[in-house]
Amino acid sequence: MMLRRELLAAMTGLGVASALAAGGSPLAAEDAKIPAIAGPDPATKTPSYKAPPGSVDTHTHIFGPAATYPFSPTRPYTPPDAPLETFRALHEKIGVERAVIVNATVHGTDNRVVTDAIAQSNGNYKGVANVNAAMSDADLAALGKAGICACRFPFLRRLGGVGDMKVFRTLVDRVAAIGWHVDIYLEAGTIQEFVPILKALPVTYVIDHMGTISAAKGIDDAEFKALLDLQASDDKCWVKITGPERASASGPPFHDAVPFAKKLIDNAPDRVIWGTDWPHPNVKIMPNDGDLVDLIPLYAPDPAIQRKLLVSNPERLFKFAPKA
Ligand SMILES: [Zn+2]
Repeated sequence: MMLRRELLAAMTGLGVASALAAGGSPLAAEDAKIPAIAGPDPATKTPSYKAPPGSVDTHTHIFGPAATYPFSPTRPYTPPDAPLETFRALHEKIGVERAVIVNATVHGTDNRVVTDAIAQSNGNYKGVANVNAAMSDADLAALGKAGICACRFPFLRRLGGVGDMKVFRTLVDRVAAIGWHVDIYLEAGTIQEFVPILKALPVTYVIDHMGTISAAKGIDDAEFKALLDLQASDDKCWVKITGPERASASGPPFHDAVPFAKKLIDNAPDRVIWGTDWPHPNVKIMPNDGDLVDLIPLYAPDPAIQRKLLVSNPERLFKFAPKA
């Protein structure tokens, strides 16, 4: 297990860390050195599973178009454009009408790509923003008014990490004061280190991608057990049932990730939410979103639990108007 001081030492002043620190100067990244990543599978399959009305895809991204929404010069990777029209077509195809757009590190703390999409969604989209300590309370309030319900903290070295836990905690307190929750993206293998930090938070937190667990380690792995214990013992802890393609060792259709998702859902059925993670930045194997939808009834065979996972839980967490 990585010691906390080693983890924090690894998260030195790059990317998000520089964006988070008040007055931190952005690195002068050269575009040519930023790795390009693959786009999503454009041939989305029509899933066999029909999601209930009002279902929410709670983890998605929109990239650009870069001509309208320029990517951050300090971004950790460069994706192909994945604009709002393609995003809408994806959801049309998989039969999901509502979504939460999580601003990716590619757009830095410019959240317009998210708030502009929300503004055109007729109440069907909400957002998770990237914020930093330099933002004023009025900036945060304006984001809240535009449909942002949370902000994201990616504790990932490849996304720049977070260098200063005091800055993190101050930001958490500030967003908690305006009714947001926080979205936590952990580096694989660090859940145990984060348990005391997360338990001490004054606000609801959502752990992305099932805690970035690895299916190859098995259901009895200490990391996964730590996640289950945290989820069971802390009512503030929610888990996103996303990223089976990230957890899987067996490849499509990622059935080796199903027991993990199932266990997390059974463990706290009122504090789990589902998402595609379209357009799937930085995955080793690109999933087909139709296949991901068809995993839902394997995760949660009971329609009443499916409704919690897809409709009532995200409605409550992201403050969507309930669907009649
Ligand atoms: Zn994502």
